[in-house]
Amino acid sequence: MLTQSKRINIAGVEVSPDHYIGGKRVSSASTFQVISPIDESVMGEVAAGGQAEIDLAVQAAKEAFPAWAALGPSGRAPYLKKLADVIEAHLEELAIVETTNNGSLLEASRLRVMKRGAMNIRFFAEWAETLKGESWEANGVQYSVHYDPSGVSGLITPWNAPFMLSTWKVGPALAAGNTVVIKPPEWAPFTCSLLADFAEEAGLPAGVLNVVQGIGEDAGAALTAHPDVTRISFTGSEETGKIIGKAAADRIVPVSLELGGKSPLIVFADCDFAAALRTALGQYDNAGQVCLAGTRILVEESIAKDFIEGMKTGAKELVLGDPRKPETHVGPLITREHLERVQGFVERARAAGAEVAYGGGVSSALGGLYFEPTLFINVPEDAEILQREVFGPVLTLQTFKTEEEAIALANHTDYGLAATIFTGDEERANRVGAAVTAGTVWVNTFFARDLSAPFGGAKNSGIGREGGNWSFEFFCDVKTLAKRSGSFQ
Ligand code: NAD
Repeated sequence: MLTQSKRINIAGVEVSPDHYIGGKRVSSASTFQVISPIDESVMGEVAAGGQAEIDLAVQAAKEAFPAWAALGPSGRAPYLKKLADVIEAHLEELAIVETTNNGSLLEASRLRVMKRGAMNIRFFAEWAETLKGESWEANGVQYSVHYDPSGVSGLITPWNAPFMLSTWKVGPALAAGNTVVIKPPEWAPFTCSLLADFAEEAGLPAGVLNVVQGIGEDAGAALTAHPDVTRISFTGSEETGKIIGKAAADRIVPVSLELGGKSPLIVFADCDFAAALRTALGQYDNAGQVCLAGTRILVEESIAKDFIEGMKTGAKELVLGDPRKPETHVGPLITREHLERVQGFVERARAAGAEVAYGGGVSSALGGLYFEPTLFINVPEDAEILQREVFGPVLTLQTFKTEEEAIALANHTDYGLAATIFTGDEERANRVGAAVTAGTVWVNTFFARDLSAPFGGAKNSGIGREGGNWSFEFFCDVKTLAKRSGSFQ
């Protein structure tokens, strides 16, 4: 392991390509290349960590743990609130680095996503300060519930919203009194490197927050298998989730898996048609690279013709292009490898007999990684495109006649991350909301996420819930203290 390499200039922001371990930048002899999806140019070489770097980082986190845990929630909160302030002071830099690295829309990053990063840290710091376990008496014994810090948390994140998702894990883990080792996604590692800079600027004690860059099968696998890691929180694909779940099972370590989805967006004829249509077209956000996206649009038959026409007209107005430009609605896919994966899904759907209503390929005007917003209609019931997560700007539209049929179609998938319902009838909203299997159900809205609410997936979309108390139930060792009443002087 070498000491430090030169910072990389990304759109005017100096970003370290190294790990951040025990409060110091550390590089590795081997590196991996990071490509910008905007124009497929090389952004830089990033340190490729493995077992040795993970060992070092977990050791640093283990050493920092007792003092950090001993601070208690109110002792830790000032550090975390300062970290949130530092993030807020750097929103513009974060946004341009994230956009250059993963192709997400700059405007959305600047105005919403990066702010959410600061909010995640501040929210959980404040929540921990007021977190009180219940207490009660039963059969002459006084019971109380305590949330103890559990040790070193291993946090693994995907590339589609790497900064926001890392803070979603870092916030509650650190507020709970744990120290952390983060393994950022190899396709978009740079904003997590900035997070390490911000932790230093905020004065977090060395070793409390560590970042090890690297490939999933090397650095990620070493982190999940490390004997001193007491929690694993993972967001990513179902395939990787299964591997990580097995690694956690081997050591009986609690694991949180936030995985993919194939979520339904159910449109009843009695709904606000314009709002439903707007929301359906909004599923192309981030070029469809959103876990929660309602990619299976289910429309009541009586309005389906108009809805498809509306989608066709609306899709023509979507601007596909450079995510740094304010007029752009849909940016590029993350990598060529991912583009080929998306193309494969589209070709197999066509071959299975699904009809392309619009889109269906790489933009002829732009080329590169710019895939057209695509809609499939008249899709055969057993087609792969209705079951597997594409993670691109590709939607399907099916029709239904009755509420029962809508529910059956909505649940006809192995996933259960989210569902969206558009209806003007509240009773129906309650019935359908209760009948669909999903971690979150939205009615006449989309993507509303209050941090106090539980978040997670049913079925193959994951294990566990995070948000509010659920985050602390995961990251802490929850303890029952039982004292014989009246047994003290
Ligand atoms: P991925 O599973 O390929 O990678 C995610 C992370 O896991 C990366 O950091 C990667 O390096 C690491 N990894 C890969 N192999 C590993 C291994 N063997 N051991 C340990 N770590 C390993 O996922 P991705 O392509 O980066 O992200 C897209 C997926 O993430 C989609 O399925 C999407 O739905 C899902 N996602 C889910 C949520 C959610 O909250 N449920 C949010 C965003 C994305």
